Amino acid sequence: MKHSNISIFIPHLGCPYNCIFCDQYKITGSDCAVTPSDVYSLLDSCKKDKKLLNGKTQIAFFGGSFTAIDKNLMIDYLKAASGFVSDCTFDSIRISTRPDCINEEILDTLRRYNVKTIELGIQSFDDQVLTASGRGYSSETAIDSCNLISQSGFELGIQMMCGLPCDTQQKDLETAQTIIDLSCRQVRIYPVIVIKGTKLCQMYENGLYTPLDLDQAVDTCAKLYTLFCQNDVTILKIGLHSSSDGVAGPFHPAFGELVRSKVFYESVIKETSKYKHYNIRVAPSFISVAIGNSKINLRKFKDNGYDIDIISDPNIDREKYIIE
Ligand code: SF4
Repeated sequence: MKHSNISIFIPHLGCPYNCIFCDQYKITGSDCAVTPSDVYSLLDSCKKDKKLLNGKTQIAFFGGSFTAIDKNLMIDYLKAASGFVSDCTFDSIRISTRPDCINEEILDTLRRYNVKTIELGIQSFDDQVLTASGRGYSSETAIDSCNLISQSGFELGIQMMCGLPCDTQQKDLETAQTIIDLSCRQVRIYPVIVIKGTKLCQMYENGLYTPLDLDQAVDTCAKLYTLFCQNDVTILKIGLHSSSDGVAGPFHPAFGELVRSKVFYESVIKETSKYKHYNIRVAPSFISVAIGNSKINLRKFKDNGYDIDIISDPNIDREKYIIE
């Protein structure tokens, strides 16, 4: 059964400072943090939604540094949510935080209140990228934090970014390999979008930062996607939500689909030969990915000498295909 989240946004709560690329008010579309009593009311109202009562739903605190907020307030949030887990209405709690805001005492508190999954906004395991992005911790701290979370019995998720200052595709692939080596099973991949009002936006306007263009971001994310899939890491998300405050960078409303289309194209040309006809069967819901945005894959197959027809077949699982 499909995993679902009830997302509760606490924009910038607990964050020791604003990271150069981040404006959670704009990213989450939420202009203030909810109170613990708002959390209780929201979750109580979610009990009426049968789709959420599937035994897999997590209560997810996103948008800030959950474990760095005032301890009493953090516990009040957890108390507001954990009763809905104790009575088996929802599965568990998921929180997101920074790697330098994790220690054994914090993990003990999270465990007491039914937290199962901890997502760390690591962004990169490259020290030069971390320093240039003003993250305030080293890759060693990030690795220690991941290990502590996993060894303490929590599920670990990692958020990574590509296109930060001083970043390269090679560094992104190395970050992905470290994520795999740390036995992390869930990842979110965010290509950097320059958001109005951030320090990164000033750097961009002063010619000190150049974001990835769309093709570069899709190419890097397709390579990351393939590497994570080969190593059984679940990709929870690729690309940010729509943001009207993005002033530059590889924003596309269907970014994840562009990435999956490129992955599909590249796997097909590895498994077929030029100048020979093939039918490729895919799930109906996968057709748009297979043919690509504005039919780009069909054009590229033809232009590069591949004679391929894509056929819709309801008996094929999404993301799978059969070549005949
Ligand atoms: S990137 Fe994370 S730690 Fe930095 S300001 Fe945004 S939410 Fe806070």
